[in-house]
Amino acid sequence: MNLIRQFSDDCWDILQQISDPEIPVLSVVDLGMIRGVELDQDNNIVVRLTPTYSGCPATDVLKDEIVHVFTAKGFTPIQVVVDLSEAWTTDWMSQNGKDKLKQYGIAPPKGEAHSCGTHVALTDGIECPHCHSIHSKLLSEFSSTACKALYQCQDCLEPFDYFKCI
Ligand SMILES: [Zn+2]
Repeated sequence: MNLIRQFSDDCWDILQQISDPEIPVLSVVDLGMIRGVELDQDNNIVVRLTPTYSGCPATDVLKDEIVHVFTAKGFTPIQVVVDLSEAWTTDWMSQNGKDKLKQYGIAPPKGEAHSCGTHVALTDGIECPHCHSIHSKLLSEFSSTACKALYQCQDCLEPFDYFKCI
């Protein structure tokens, strides 16, 4: 049993080193994209991954990266299964992940997805990650990627990305 627990911890440690191609400061674990790590009956390592946005081109890149890193560390055979049984939500993002986002200059998702409804609630007053003022204004519903909105702080005047709550 201990061996299996150690093995599982090792797998999660490796995954913690794999970052999201779009937000390199966040690992796939911070984002809550890893739904499970298991051994199947043939002793294949099976990593279940739910992409943050379905159809995201980053998914294939990530799958390859996970296989590559596990293989390089001798954790083989490894298989990455894309699990779409539940849609990824920002609720799965860890607190650690939200803190890292803020340090990176992106406002983390505010509140929980179920309270935001199915449509993204975009309001003024998202906390500025630079000066922590809540006097911010929505400039654009879409920023560098569809999952972010562009805000401008009315105090320090810095524009910033807000990671939308979904
Ligand atoms: Zn500011």
